[in-house]
Amino acid sequence: AADYNYAEALQKSIYFYETQRSGVLPDSNRVEWRGNSGLLDGSDKGLDLTGGWYDAGDHVKFGLPMAYTSTMLAWSVYEYKEGYEQSGQLEEILDNIRWATDYFIKAHTAPNELWGQVGNGTADHNWWGPAEVLPMARPSYKIDAAHPGSDLAAETAAALASASIIFKESDAAYADKLLVHAKQLYSFADQYRGNYSDSITDAQQYYKSWSGYADELSWGGIWLYLATEDQTYLDQAVAASELWSKDQSGNWGYQWTQSWDDKHYGAQLLLSRITGDPTFIQSTEKNMQYWTTGAGSSADRVSYTPGGLAHLDQWGALRYAANQAFLAFVYSDWVSDPVKQASARSFAEKQITYMLGDNPRNSSYVIGYGNNSPRHPHHRTAHGSWADSQTVPVDHRHVLYGALVGGPSKTDTYSDTIGDYVSNEVATDYNAAFTGALAKMMLLHGQGQQPLPDFPPAETRDDELFVEASVNASGSNFVEIRALLNNRTGWPARVTDQLSFRYYLDLSEAAAASYGPEDITVTAGGYNQGGVVSPLLPHDEANQIYYTEIDFGGTAIYPGGQSAYRKEIQFRIAAPQNTSFWSNGNDFSFQGIASGGAAPVKTVNIPVFDAGVHVFGEQP
Ligand code: BGC
Ligand code: CA
Repeated sequence: AADYNYAEALQKSIYFYETQRSGVLPDSNRVEWRGNSGLLDGSDKGLDLTGGWYDAGDHVKFGLPMAYTSTMLAWSVYEYKEGYEQSGQLEEILDNIRWATDYFIKAHTAPNELWGQVGNGTADHNWWGPAEVLPMARPSYKIDAAHPGSDLAAETAAALASASIIFKESDAAYADKLLVHAKQLYSFADQYRGNYSDSITDAQQYYKSWSGYADELSWGGIWLYLATEDQTYLDQAVAASELWSKDQSGNWGYQWTQSWDDKHYGAQLLLSRITGDPTFIQSTEKNMQYWTTGAGSSADRVSYTPGGLAHLDQWGALRYAANQAFLAFVYSDWVSDPVKQASARSFAEKQITYMLGDNPRNSSYVIGYGNNSPRHPHHRTAHGSWADSQTVPVDHRHVLYGALVGGPSKTDTYSDTIGDYVSNEVATDYNAAFTGALAKMMLLHGQGQQPLPDFPPAETRDDELFVEASVNASGSNFVEIRALLNNRTGWPARVTDQLSFRYYLDLSEAAAASYGPEDITVTAGGYNQGGVVSPLLPHDEANQIYYTEIDFGGTAIYPGGQSAYRKEIQFRIAAPQNTSFWSNGNDFSFQGIASGGAAPVKTVNIPVFDAGVHVFGEQP
């Protein structure tokens, strides 16, 4: 376990949340490939719902996993604040939790009204590009008294109440504000009961409330109790446990773990600690046994891979193991029996070190950390396609530091493939309990460890704006150029509608033929997707260097699809008909472009300007 730098792992795991930010980014943004996005969120309802996190490799803002993630991160600060302090990450984790809680406050527009999703799942998932240039409408969805969602409202209450505890010391006014919203949301959840995915039906395909809302009513009640010490909330939490679903033998579920859907696992653990009630303790221990020695019989146990990963489910296998690892750490820190303590702790440590590289592939499953980590996660903005395609470009343009991927198969095999969202997607909920478990690992094994200095390193950028050109035709007095103006921006991606480029000519041959620049015509012809050509303009008259400016002003060009990222124009530059003195060969911009029927090539001799500012290529 000492082989890993837990301070670095924590630093990166927290940074991942910064890569998921929607809205107007603050000056403190560390992600050079992220910019403002989702700026119209809420505008379909006359609201400002900007901010929050994109859920996973997509750009929907799903309220339930977002709130769950925020609660889990706050819980981890509540338990293991020193782990964050010792790794120098306390400020970072608080800052990233606040990004979510600020959004929940915005989304809570009336006591009984909470916006629980922005972005339509199908429309969003059908498009593969960077968040900064999202082209589709992003509808907003809510719950209210007539369309209740007790799970969503109570989980959001849990997020705000848990955050109020950890912000109390550094920002008491903010903590109070969080608590006001938490209390309102909790009574909304309690009073108007229902599953949120019956109200926000678009969520059904993605984050349906399988477990119902009773677990969140307990969970939210616990966090409100911890934030206020008001016994009423604890009573409500315990009362809601009566509604948790039971199997035929009368057990509460024990064969799964804490997740975005079901929080009775976390709730029973905290209720064990708070109340000492054996019902909660027994159920907690049954769940711990299910993940370690077996619950009652060794057959009643989660499957293990040969390499030692507790493999609950293929979709996001590592996230479940991390979730259980966090519960096991909290349990082991509380339980007094040394055997139970050691068993839970060693389970948790083994799961976390597996993820960091202690596995049959000797590979890390945390992007940009450790040995042979994944490079092709299912993540739109990190991939940075300009063509709405998972295969363009072949390699990701950005490093999504810190993201825990879905994970390996039941036999420890894994393939690092962009299209595989079951094994190779990342998600805000995947990193939540994982981050908390790392904070505990920091306390156990991170003595003296430091996060990386100067993190993140600057990326190597490829060309973002440029022209590809070829010769369409040429003759004794003319040349016809085919030019494709590209916007492949990625640091960050951006929409531009003020691009132009210049094509330079050398007319030194004209004097001998007694024609001049005023006799040259420039015409757009054939195919033109929005360019306006200028007559020849002087650049260096003494040396007979002139250019035509081709202006795509008013045409939006952006890295969001085949027909969006580049625009074409064909234009002809011609001297008087019967001149015998015309040469293309000496023209600055003619040099380096494709001829003889070859496909257009990128050229530095056709410089590009954005709003008049020279952004690519050379001038003579
Ligand atoms: C999206 C993923 C999502 C999956 C299942 C894919 O199209 O890219 O983000 O997890 O659908 O909903
Ligand atoms: Ca639930």
